[in-house]
Formats: sequence, structure tokens, C-alpha cells
Amino acid sequence: VLRHGLHYMASSDRMRRWAIRNPVARRLSLRFVAGETLDDALQVVRRTNDEGMRASFDELGENVTSREEAEEAAAAYCQALTGIAEHSLDANVSCKATHLGLDLGLDTGTACLRKVVGQAKELNNFLRIDMEGSKYTQVTIELTKQMFAEYPGAVGTVIQSYLYRSGEDIDELNKLGVRVRLVKGAYLEPTSVAYQQKAEVDGNYRKLADKLLADGTFPAFATHDERLLDYIKSRAQMLGRKPEEFEFQMLYGVRRDLHRKLHDEGYGMRIYIPYGTHWYPYLMRRMAERPANLLFIVGNLAREARG
Ligand SMILES: Cc1cc2nc3c(=O)[nH]c(=O)nc-3n(C[C@H](O)[C@H](O)[C@H](O)COP(=O)(O)OP(=O)(O)OC[C@H]3O[C@@H](n4cnc5c(N)ncnc54)[C@H](O)[C@@H]3O)c2cc1C
Repeated sequence: VLRHGLHYMASSDRMRRWAIRNPVARRLSLRFVAGETLDDALQVVRRTNDEGMRASFDELGENVTSREEAEEAAAAYCQALTGIAEHSLDANVSCKATHLGLDLGLDTGTACLRKVVGQAKELNNFLRIDMEGSKYTQVTIELTKQMFAEYPGAVGTVIQSYLYRSGEDIDELNKLGVRVRLVKGAYLEPTSVAYQQKAEVDGNYRKLADKLLADGTFPAFATHDERLLDYIKSRAQMLGRKPEEFEFQMLYGVRRDLHRKLHDEGYGMRIYIPYGTHWYPYLMRRMAERPANLLFIVGNLAREARG
């Protein structure tokens, strides 16, 4: 019930307006978000690199409703790519297709995406198109394939293990050589398209990880689930995949102990670093994944209100 409530709150405009004006909520968002500006993110990425880990910049935003917002988002991602090159950072960029105008039509989404992927290619870097709710799965995969055909190697996407369809999607992307990040999935999905039980989602994650370890191009395993991490490490060893042939990815502010542990064990570790003013839905999804985070936030809000 709580998870459903948090997903509902993630899409509530009233709650969003309240949260972004509330100084305490803004400060608490910093547990999961690097800050509101590119400079904030550049500093966090520098620190991450200094600790021996890679990063992915994510300028927060989704479901924009005007062409100007989509173009601003494309410009912001291009700026992030330029910042990475200028500061010689070990980082790439992640974005959402609806942040680049996909809801306004395929033409707008494709045009904005093309600018960013083109810039990534020119700077010898890489753009990961995050995966959103299931109504965007097919179009996101189509867009990725189109961009990959235009700019080979400069773009990849994300596959969610809670979706029934994901095995076929991975087979197709593996054949093309498109890089895949495997996640469990962060949206509320109906039984018609997605597994609902943790055991099923985790079981499918293992199956999909096997496919990626066998045939994938530099796959990324994005999870904080220690049982899955152990599974991937042992399967990689069995299949003769060396640590430099894949990487692990985790979220900024989540299980920092594991970031360091995997890095110390010699695995590639990339930290997903979100920044920007549109942090509200991102933060609510992190709450839905682990409602204990909500207790932390509510406890802090109550303490601040008393003090
Ligand atoms: C790098 C990265 C990129 C992602 N990109 C996408 C994407 O494009 N599309 C998408 O749908 N989803 C994405 N996700 C989110 C993903 O789908 C899951 O919702 C999220 O990773 C939580 O699942 P888990 O695999 O960590 O396992 P879980 O079983 O949810 O968690 C395992 C353990 O990790 C810790 N943990 C997990 N989440 C949190 C949290 N929020 N706060 C504190 N501790 C936590 C807890 O200790 C928990 O017991 C991404 C995740 C990562 C790490």
C-alpha cells in the first residue's frame, strides 16, 4: 500500500510543488541527488573518479510538455558532455527520452536525442537512454536502435527484469551489439506486462544476466542486491568473462559500502549521479524502493519543525 502511495505521490503535481519549495525537503534530497546545478554534479563526479569509480551524469527531468523544455534538456546534456571532456572525467551521460520531448511526438524526441547522441559520438563518449514506464518500452528500444545505426557505439539503453518481454529485447539488442544496463525496474506496472513478486523479478534478473554475460556488449548490472551481485560475479567467472568486460552500476547515495567493496575487489563500478531542480519524482521512486527512506525523511522534517 505504501509503495503504491509513494508512486502516486511521485506523479502528484501538488506534492511536487510543495516539496520543491520546502527548504528541508530540498536539503534532504541531497542524500540522493548531487545538487541543483551542473557544477554541483561536476564536483561529485570528480570526487567519485578520485575514489577510482566511474560516473554517469543524469540531468533530472521527464515528461516535458513543450519544445523549448526539450531543447533546453538537450542543451543541458550537451553541456554535461562538454564538461566531462573539459575536466577529463571518467563519466558518461544518462537521459530519459521523455525529458527530450518524446511525449510531444516522435519527431521532437528523435531530433533532440540526435543532438545529444551526435555530441556524445563527437566527444568519443556514450549516452544511455534510461527506461521509463512500460508505455515507453517499445519506442525507447526503437529510438535506441535508430540512434545506434546512425552513431554506432555511442548509445545504449536499459532493460527491466520485471517485464515479461525483456528476454526477447535482450536477444535483439545483443545481436546488434547495443550496450544494455540491466535493472529490476522502478515503476508501478500491471500484471499484464510485469512480474509482481520479488522472487520472480530476481529470478528473471538472473536469466537476463546470463544472456548478457554470454552474448552482451559491455553489459552493466545495475543493482544493490547482494545476492544478485554474488550471482553475477560467479557466473562471469564460470563463463570466462573478465572484470573489464562488464561493469556494475549503483545509485548515488545508496549502499556506498557496496560501491567501495566491488571497486576494491577489482570490478568496474559506475555511480549514477542525478542533479538538477527536477528531483521530486526521482526522490519519490527511491522512497518507493525502500520505504525506510521515507521514515528517515519524515523524521528529519519532524525534527526540523520542532527545532
Ligand atoms: C545505476 C542505476 C540505473 C537505473 N536506471 C533505471 C532505469 O533506467 N529504469 C528503471 O526503471 N529503473 C532504473 N533503476 C532502478 C532499478 O530499477 C531499481 O528500482 C533499483 O535499483 C532498486 O533495486 P535493486 O536492484 O537495488 O534491488 P532491491 O531488491 O530493490 O534492493 C536491494 C537492496 O538495495 C538497497 N536499496 C535498494 N534501493 C534503495 C534505495 N532507494 N534506498 C536505499 N537502499 C536501497 C537495500 O539495501 C535493498 O535491500 C536504476 C538503478 C541503478 C542502480
